[in-house]
Amino acid sequence: MLGLALAVLAGCSGCSGVEALTGGGVPAATLPVAPVEPVEPVEQDDPAVGTSTASRPTATSGAPSASTTGGLAPMTSEDLVALADRMTDVLRDGSEEEWAALFDLGEEGEEQQRAWYRAVRAVPMTVRELLPSVVVAADTPEGSVVEVVFAHQVEGADPVPARESYRLTVRRAPGEEPVITDVDGFGSADGFPQLWDLRELDVVVTQSLVVLAPDGREDEVAAVLPGLEAAVANVFLDFRTDAPQRLVVQLAGPDDVVAILDDRRWQHPPLGLAIFLPGVDLEGLEPGGSGVPAADEHVDRIVVDLDVLAADHAENGVTPPGGWSVMRHEGVHAVLDGDPSVSPPIWLWEGVAQWYGDRRDYVVDPWYADVVERIGVPEELPTSLDQYYFGSEEESEAAYAVSAMVFTYLDRTWGFGTARDVGVGLSAADTWYDDEDVDAVFLEETGLTFAQFEAAWRDWVAATYG
Ligand SMILES: [Zn+2]
Repeated sequence: MLGLALAVLAGCSGCSGVEALTGGGVPAATLPVAPVEPVEPVEQDDPAVGTSTASRPTATSGAPSASTTGGLAPMTSEDLVALADRMTDVLRDGSEEEWAALFDLGEEGEEQQRAWYRAVRAVPMTVRELLPSVVVAADTPEGSVVEVVFAHQVEGADPVPARESYRLTVRRAPGEEPVITDVDGFGSADGFPQLWDLRELDVVVTQSLVVLAPDGREDEVAAVLPGLEAAVANVFLDFRTDAPQRLVVQLAGPDDVVAILDDRRWQHPPLGLAIFLPGVDLEGLEPGGSGVPAADEHVDRIVVDLDVLAADHAENGVTPPGGWSVMRHEGVHAVLDGDPSVSPPIWLWEGVAQWYGDRRDYVVDPWYADVVERIGVPEELPTSLDQYYFGSEEESEAAYAVSAMVFTYLDRTWGFGTARDVGVGLSAADTWYDDEDVDAVFLEETGLTFAQFEAAWRDWVAATYG
């Protein structure tokens, strides 16, 4: 359990001793979209001449010989197109056995591929395709290294197909069908891994959620599901103005949360994540070609630590009526996430989500008071990602609390609608910290400039928690 175990359910008088609900100081993050580095295709020379490939171990010889390639036939772009088409066909109309037959990964690897196949087919998707991207290296000793993109659009949730890239090692003896002997990814900026890459899953589909969770944890998932659904219903009611009616949530153990996060700068694993997958522009695909064009839009995925949620529920025996704080928090991120080129102030981004996550059913004042006692009345709002995500747990917790206090102050002084509208307005502010945009939003909503507001907020923090 991270952070403070201080939050209790408000309006539950018998529960005042309840601890360890997940509100309060537990970091729950949104990762900014990282640009995807295109992989340069390796020139496909005539293999008999064979001057290409970056990763051949001996740079001295010309043509690939039996000793370097094992007598394998290097993949061409056309071969890659055919392989991706075959994978898509099996995914669409084939069987698990046919899928497994595409791979030679050993027992564990094959089981993981079978689990992937079952999970991906259990998720309702309007697009489910493997697209050929690039031949990275045609003739390494192990075979060819190629990239394919799993384009997948979850029904009711994704505005465009999401992109998850895989790097495959493909071994092909001359005259035979290619066999995939290794599967890897390009890291979280290109969508890898998702929970279906890590273990066997159960998929639960409701009106507002597509929930992926580890197989064998059905009871825990059923126990926390009402709190997830209530949270999403509230987020949609309070924030949503446009189309998608569903969120995709991966409930994962802490190790899998860290694997999906895929960022070693984090000092401590977060309780929840709202991540973005790059989008795929299917219209821009060239028939029969390789290379996968990016869409302008991207796709949201939420990851929540199932261990912590299940423990909260088991210990407290209650579901917060407005839903789990962490799900409300990540839901706000997913819903307010619009134009990826817009970078709202970080204190806004985490503040509105943390405030909204806790405001309905969790008691925050002791947490705020604790943070103010520790760090004093904050001189200014935190502006660095490091303060939230990559610093110590104490520093991170203080950053979240201070940001949430801005919205608690707005909520208690001007009302819920104003606090929300400041959050929505600032989420479209078009620079990381643009005084003009920020001023305009605060003037509109509170009649104060941001500087005036910040001074009033600081006085309120001092008077209330100092
Ligand atoms: Zn967050």
